Amino acid sequence: MTDTDIRRGTRKAPSGGWRRAVVREISRPPNAVILRLEVPDRVDHWPGQHYVIKLTAEDGYTAQRSYSVASSPDDPLLEFWIERLDDGEVSSFLADVVEVGDELEIRGPLGGWFVWTAGAPMLGVAGGSGVVPIVSMLRHGIHVGRTDLLSLAVSARTRAELPYADELAAGGARIVLTREDAPDGRVAARIAATDLAPLVGEDGTCFVCGSTGFTGAATELLAGLGVDVRRIRIESFGPSG
Ligand SMILES: Cc1cc2nc3c(=O)[nH]c(=O)nc-3n(C[C@H](O)[C@H](O)[C@H](O)COP(=O)(O)OP(=O)(O)OC[C@H]3O[C@@H](n4cnc5c(N)ncnc54)[C@H](O)[C@@H]3O)c2cc1C
Repeated sequence: MTDTDIRRGTRKAPSGGWRRAVVREISRPPNAVILRLEVPDRVDHWPGQHYVIKLTAEDGYTAQRSYSVASSPDDPLLEFWIERLDDGEVSSFLADVVEVGDELEIRGPLGGWFVWTAGAPMLGVAGGSGVVPIVSMLRHGIHVGRTDLLSLAVSARTRAELPYADELAAGGARIVLTREDAPDGRVAARIAATDLAPLVGEDGTCFVCGSTGFTGAATELLAGLGVDVRRIRIESFGPSG
């Protein structure tokens, strides 16, 4: 498979700079918003990449934040899942104020390291909103018929708080819940070596994504299971104000 086989965006579009995206669909799962954007001059993305969304107030003040793409490259719209933080400047605006038909300024796709191209096995280990780029990888794996390459472990406090819980469960992800028992009977607890040991393969890349605390803990677990740290790629969603 070549890069060109899976890419559906506008190949001649400029790779940098801001472009305008139109909000075509909005849904509001608990404490979050899913925005689906149409980007007329969109650049192809790889699963795992992110965009920057910029908001500009009437007085010219701007605020911008990074958001991973949840959609697969073949999706005609670009999808973002954004956790609504009560005191969050950008996330609360996107969740509470933005409506279908609004325009947003976006820049991307960005990041060439945390990407999976369906060419080799991968293990995705993600917590909270960190599952978003893993969902893009899962969707892409399904689209190209290579789910055999994917192993996933995802964590949240409760199943209701796990983004894309149904999709991830259907995709065979190990569901790790810290505040309630998981549907498969796993007792509520933080992610542990016993969750990851059955998923670790001899080759391929481990993509670890989530809060700084989660990525640190997951990386230590993987290293403890003998995974060469050069096989681990980390994306931390820390505060970015
Ligand atoms: C590469 C990358 C990809 C990202 N992808 C996603 C994504 O797909 N979905 C998503 O929801 N977020 C994602 N984020 C996080 C996102 O960029 C923002 O940090 C987040 O939306 C908070 O912005 P805000 O303006 O609402 O909050 P701010 O006004 O910046 O902060 C408000 C309060 O929340 C705290 N805070 C800030 N960021 C976080 C955070 N990530 N987690 C917990 N507390 C925080 C701050 O310390 C502060 O107390 C990503 C970050 C990076 C770096």
